[in-house]
Amino acid sequence: MSAQIIDGKEFAANVRSQVAEHVVRLKADHGIIPGLAVVLVGEDPASQVYVRSKGKLTVEVGMNSIEHKLDVDTSETDLLAVVDQLNNDPAIHGILVQLPLPKHLNEDLVINSIAPAKDVDGFHISNVGLLGTGQSSMVPCTPLGCLMMLRDHLGSLSGLDAVVVGRSNIVGKPMAQLLLGDSCTVTIAHSRTKDLPDVVRRADIVVAAVGRPEMVPGDWIKPGAVVVDVGINRIAAPERGEGKVKLVGDVDYASCAQVAGAITPVPGGVGPMTIACLLANTLTATCRANGLPAPEGLTA
Ligand code: NDP
Repeated sequence: MSAQIIDGKEFAANVRSQVAEHVVRLKADHGIIPGLAVVLVGEDPASQVYVRSKGKLTVEVGMNSIEHKLDVDTSETDLLAVVDQLNNDPAIHGILVQLPLPKHLNEDLVINSIAPAKDVDGFHISNVGLLGTGQSSMVPCTPLGCLMMLRDHLGSLSGLDAVVVGRSNIVGKPMAQLLLGDSCTVTIAHSRTKDLPDVVRRADIVVAAVGRPEMVPGDWIKPGAVVVDVGINRIAAPERGEGKVKLVGDVDYASCAQVAGAITPVPGGVGPMTIACLLANTLTATCRANGLPAPEGLTA
């Protein structure tokens, strides 16, 4: 069997164009332009790349993009003051503090200082609680993107066995909550899980969010299962020349694609969906802030 490739790049472009259409209507019908503020502390090169592409795509869908770039030695008090000012700015509907923060700043404190309704990353403790109790919340972008692709590919997820490998707060746990919300039977696996291959083999849906290159081989996959690979790992690629690197996921794509029914590639799978869902969340936050219904198909 050769798996169907779930094209995250195309899917994300489609989500962004749906968001852009909603933004046009919001402006025409209500005079509202969604505003997304991104706060970057320090000069971490990877974070700078993310922030640049977030800003570019935010503007492309017709939203206002505001960037606050703060020195690496910014104090917690000053950072909290920036967040507070954004919380109180009615032109800002979404706030994202780029992680990781420099070590002297308390990430939990900073994230929990964002107004929950503007927390477009879905990391605020209130949003975590709302998601866990099945209430309307802001949902973390990467798991939301995975859910959208799974729903699109499978239709109903009800009754399916899902295994999420990884239990981080930003991917594994919210992913599991979303799958449970769609009535999957969910197992969360992690570094202490016994007989991981057997656990994964039971799954109709496998979501790998581990951070270990090509850890899941094809012989762990149930024939026909849908495999969603969240991992982004940079490994040496001597075949491309000296010192060259390439991106691979947490699943061994070549062997898994022989067995799975469908699979997301790396790159070009889950990755592009994360920013698309950030924009979808900003749109959702804008609608809710103005008493309008959240856009259908773009939320959990
Ligand atoms: P974390 O490091 O926070 O969590 C990794 C999880 O994997 C932990 O729960 C850990 O278990 C588990 N794990 C580690 N080793 C094993 C093992 N041998 N067997 C089973 N489980 C194991 O990572 P994140 O969740 O933040 O990210 C996971 C991957 O997803 C990374 O590659 C990251 O780059 C990528 N990512 C991609 C995004 C995208 O936009 N596509 C967004 C966010 C992340 P334990 O808790 O027991 O230690």
